[in-house]
Parts: sequence; C-alpha cells; structure tokens
Amino acid sequence: MPDRRPLIGGNWKMNTTRESAEALATAVVKGLAADVAETCDVALFPPFPYLQVVRQCVGSAPVQVGGQDVSGHEEGAFTGQTSARMLLDLGCTMTLVGHSERRHGLNESDEVLNRKVRMALASGLDVMLCVGETLEEREAGHSEQVVAKQVSAGLEGVTKADLERLSIAYEPVWAIGTGRTAAPEDAQSMHARIRADLENQYDARSATSVRIVYGGSVKPANADSILAQPDVDGGLIGGASLDAGGFLDIVRAAASVEAS
Ligand code: PEP
Repeated sequence: MPDRRPLIGGNWKMNTTRESAEALATAVVKGLAADVAETCDVALFPPFPYLQVVRQCVGSAPVQVGGQDVSGHEEGAFTGQTSARMLLDLGCTMTLVGHSERRHGLNESDEVLNRKVRMALASGLDVMLCVGETLEEREAGHSEQVVAKQVSAGLEGVTKADLERLSIAYEPVWAIGTGRTAAPEDAQSMHARIRADLENQYDARSATSVRIVYGGSVKPANADSILAQPDVDGGLIGGASLDAGGFLDIVRAAASVEAS
C-alpha cells in the first residue's frame, strides 16, 4: 500500500452503557499489541455521553477517540448538537461525518455534511467522511455517480493541506448492519474510482495519500479478503466493534496485510 497506514475504526453507534463502554475500551487498549499499533491506526467512536470515559480508558495508548458526528456550527443556539471544539475539549482527535444512519436516516444533505467537514477540519479534528449508495441506487446502476457526487460535494472547499487529515469510508448502505458485504473486487473497484475522482478534484499526490476505508458488515471472517485489496486502506466496523476480541482480530488482519 503506497505510504498509507491502515486505519480501523470502531463505530459503536447507540450501543453500550457507561460500564460496558469502559470495559470495551479497556479491553481494546489492553489487547492492542505494540507491533500491531505500530503498523495500524485504531480509532473508537463511542456514543457522545461516553466519550470522556472512553478517552480516560485510552490514556496514552495509540488509539484515537472520535465523535460519531459533529456540528457544522461553531457554537450557539443549536440544541442537541455537539461542536468540534467540545470534542477537542474532551481529547477527541477525530469525527465521523455523513454516516448513512445520519445521511439517509436523518436526511442530512451534502451541503450540511460539507459544512460539518469544513468546520471539523478548520477546528483541528481529523475527519472520516462516509459515503455510499443505497440498494435502489445500486440496482439502478447509479452507484458510481452517487458516490462521486457525495465525495465531491462533501469535499467542496477542502484544501489539499486539509485533505491530509481526512479519510473516506466507502460504506454501501445495503451492506451496513445487514450481514451483506460487498465482494472484495467490488469494494476495490469503487475505492479505485473514488481515488481517480480525487485525482481530478485535487492531484495525483493527494489522491494517492488519502485513506479510503471500507465499511459494511466487516467481521473477522471476511476482513482478510477485503483488507487485502490494494485501494482498501482499512475499515469502519460497526457491529463487530462491540466485541473487543473480534475488533482486535480485524485490526491484526489490517496490520498483517500492511506488513506483508
Ligand atoms: C458502520 O456502522 O459504519 C458499519 C459498517 O456497521 P456494520 O459493520 O455493523 O455493518
């Protein structure tokens, strides 16, 4: 993989309690071997109320903690939202933007998501921008156009310098939480297409540097074949990240692809 460290993120969604979040984070930190952490970046995205406790469990371990979402506004009268500054204040270094459960479940538009991306980057957070087509879009043969538009609109106004702190998660909506996974070759071909689009929007160097991770029912049993694809630079893991052992198996799979 050309100079791209793999990145494995665990999206806990609206799961865990204070106690189980603490136990899960502690188990991930304890089980993360030093040689694996040297090869693979790891990030946890717990629910907002448990960010602080998870951040404390992580301590100085090489695990990033991030928000599952962030506001596009700096501060003020935005009830229920969480600002980039608040995430940074808790020691978070990253945020997801545009997860399908927000993009489609809560109708967040490309414009709203672009605002979030720019606000998070300007504030100093790393961003993982999630994109992906629905089943209807896929069956209509529109996957590539849909994803290309989500990427270009999501990155509007993002500079080349800021792009260095951004990764893209390709998550076909029909594969999230359904047990269905894209075939490794299909994931590879979409990732290569996203990279080609980034080259047009930016340049070859930037396109080669951006990490594009895959998400959608990744588990220890299917991780190797997906992570082995040359343009797949890691994964965003939902359900399987709620089990520390399985999550760490996926992290190890990513590290061994990188080392091979
Ligand atoms: C996700 O939440 O981003 C995800 C990919 O979920 P799952 O692994 O459960 O499909």
